[in-house]
Amino acid sequence: MARDPVLTFTDRGIYCPAGDFFIDPWRPVDRALITHGHSDHARWGHQRYLATHQALPVIRHRLGQIEAQGIGYGESLRIGGVTVHFHPAGHIPGSAQIAVERDGEVWVVSGDYKVEPDGLAEAFAPVPCHTFISESTFGLPVFRWRPQVEVMGDITRWWAANAAAGKTSILGAYSLGKAQRLLAGVGEVGPILTHGAVEEVNEILRNQGYSLPDTTRAGQGVDAKSHPGALVIAPPSALGSAWARKFGPAEEAFASGWMAVRGIRRRRALGTGFVVSDHADFPGLLTAIRATACERVFVTHGYTTAFRRFLAEQGYNAGIVATEYGQEAEEPAEPVDT
Ligand SMILES: [Zn+2]
Ligand SMILES: [Zn+2]
Repeated sequence: MARDPVLTFTDRGIYCPAGDFFIDPWRPVDRALITHGHSDHARWGHQRYLATHQALPVIRHRLGQIEAQGIGYGESLRIGGVTVHFHPAGHIPGSAQIAVERDGEVWVVSGDYKVEPDGLAEAFAPVPCHTFISESTFGLPVFRWRPQVEVMGDITRWWAANAAAGKTSILGAYSLGKAQRLLAGVGEVGPILTHGAVEEVNEILRNQGYSLPDTTRAGQGVDAKSHPGALVIAPPSALGSAWARKFGPAEEAFASGWMAVRGIRRRRALGTGFVVSDHADFPGLLTAIRATACERVFVTHGYTTAFRRFLAEQGYNAGIVATEYGQEAEEPAEPVDT
């Protein structure tokens, strides 16, 4: 007789009947296990939260007073009839894959993940499992990232050239994760200024012990005059705004995986786009899936249809799960599901 699945897919989110909890639910539930602090995964309104010790400060900053419990990477916790453990997802600081084990059968929910180490987030670690639930944000063969060190070199040279021309460099990047990864990776050309939304996250992560270079919040008296040749890191929405124009002569750029798509780059009318993503590229997704030695894969947000078909051709038992993930600021305005 076939056994009940360890995890089921409901209209509130991914559910574990034997443990009576949800993973990254998008509607309010009693007990939520959270992979990471991005708004499409860590939502408001649950009775109880469980996340890594590293992810909780940012989640609390975003959600305010919540009843939350922290867990260490690799630590086991018994919930009802299952055991859960969290493992690094390499996506942003504190991000986790959540493994759920019932009588020796293991399912892993990857959340969002990236396999290339970025020097800031805890490095991705594959978790052997029977069933793997994978994101597929960039699940098309055209998405192949260059090594991070090369892209960071491009950004550093762009900044240096702008500074030499007497211009401020304004770099748009999602304020949680991407902005700090850029800070940790760029070279030293001049002062670094931040938009308030970025600096708030910087402060939280610094207090946790993550190492970031010195930054100064832009504002009264802190601008292009006081900090000539500065790099300004701001949320993408600040590009082209009155806030950005206060820096006088400036070059703007946007750092995102979507910069690999020409049409999106053109519609955003940006001079420069740097391809930097906190999600795995196509080879990265395949590497991660193979490393789990799983026999079954479910794909969630992204190019689910094409990626599921590709996995099936590779011999995997592959399915699609409809979720409400994928509304992070990095995503393009247009739907990407094929
Ligand atoms: Zn995310
Ligand atoms: Zn996501």
